[in-house]
Formats: sequence, C-alpha cells, structure tokens
Amino acid sequence: ELNGEDTRNMLIYVADKVMGKKEYLTEIDSAIGDGDHGIGMYGGMKKAKKRLLKMAGETDVYKLFEAAGTEMLNSMGGASGVIFGSLYLAGAKDMEPKEAIKAKELAAMERKSLHAIQERGKAEVGDKTMVDALVPAADALEANADNSLLDALKAAEVAAKQGVEDTKKYVAKFGRAKSLLERAIGHQDAGATSVWLIFQGMREYVE
Ligand code: ADP
Ligand code: MG
Ligand code: MG
Repeated sequence: ELNGEDTRNMLIYVADKVMGKKEYLTEIDSAIGDGDHGIGMYGGMKKAKKRLLKMAGETDVYKLFEAAGTEMLNSMGGASGVIFGSLYLAGAKDMEPKEAIKAKELAAMERKSLHAIQERGKAEVGDKTMVDALVPAADALEANADNSLLDALKAAEVAAKQGVEDTKKYVAKFGRAKSLLERAIGHQDAGATSVWLIFQGMREYVE
C-alpha cells in the first residue's frame, strides 16, 4: 500500500532516477530520433520533483500524480510532453480523493492513462513508441491487481522491459525514426525505455 507520503517520495525517487538517465535516453533517441528525449524527460522530471517537494502533507495520492503530470505537461512541451505528462496525469485526474492505493488502484490508473495516450497519439503496439512498453505493463498490473503492490510492480517492470526489447523489431510510425524505415530495426525506442525506467523506479522504491 502507498499513502500520500510514500507516493510523494516514490515519485521523487522516480524523478531522480530518470534525471540520472539523461545521457542514456539521449543516446537512444540520437540513434533513430532527434536526440532530445533525455533532455525532455530531465526537464519534465525536474519540474515534477520541484512541485512534489512542496507538497509535503498532501494526503490524496491522486493529487500527487496529477501535480507531477501537470508539471511535465506544462514544461516538456511538444507531443512527448503531452504523452509523458498524461502518463501520470490522465489516470489520476477526476478521481475521488484516496489516502492510500494498492496494486488494484495503480492498475486502474495506468489503464486510464494508456487510454488517454492512445486516444491522443493514435499509437498501437508495434508502432515503436512508449505504448509498446506501457501496454504490457498495464496488462501485468491488472493481472496482479489482487497481489501485493510489490509483486504487481515487479511484473510490470519485467513486462515493460520486454516491451522495450520488442521495439527493436519494429519500424517506426511516428517521429523522425519513421523516415528511417527498416534502418530503425535493431534500435530500441527511447520513450518505451523511459516507461520501463519509471516502472523500475517505482519497484525499487516499494522494495
Ligand atoms: P520528440 O519526438 O518530439 O523529439 P521525445 O524525443 O521526447 O520527443 O520523445 C520521443 C518518444 O515519444 C518516442 O520515443 C516515442 O516513444 C514517443 N512517442 C512519439 N509519438 C508518440 C505517439 N503518437 N504515441 C505514443 N508515444 C509517442
Ligand atoms: Mg526526440
Ligand atoms: Mg524533438
């Protein structure tokens, strides 16, 4: 179970983790994209962390996800800002306040976020985007909805990692990588890698 303080600390932990992977994500995006993904995620996570640091005492778990997502959406800009902002924001907004969440609530949140991201970005599994990591992760959370949060996050992390590996097999339907056609094969998607890192960070924090 995660209460407000756990959630706040977990999201700060995840922000630090992703910020620490700036060079790695940029390298991945440089191979087949425009090389700015690490910078974008760094900027968004930095803003999210700054806001979260000011939210000590917040008891509504959803408010914390919502605040972090809103900061990312407003600071990252562009399509990826909407996509990664929505990852936190879409699943948490308009929810009845909740002082603690379990695997079941996290699964519902991620499913809702995924719907919003796909509605907006139109990406399906196999299009070489972050959706390739988020779909299996959301499925894994749902399959583990009645298990412990740690077990659910472990399963989501493994599933997301497999999703990242799978992106290597695909040609891209979006972004600069699209114009590379078959030359993008063999390279993993940067956004999918970020999704995996986010779930890995959550699992590390809960463990
Ligand atoms: P940009 O492509 O504007 O330079 P980033 O480099 O920050 O932005 O992010 C690129 C990532 O965004 C891609 O690796 C991919 O995972 C994700 N992405 C791009 N378009 C979509 C989309 N339509 N739906 C879901 N994810 C997308
Ligand atoms: Mg880019
Ligand atoms: Mg760009």
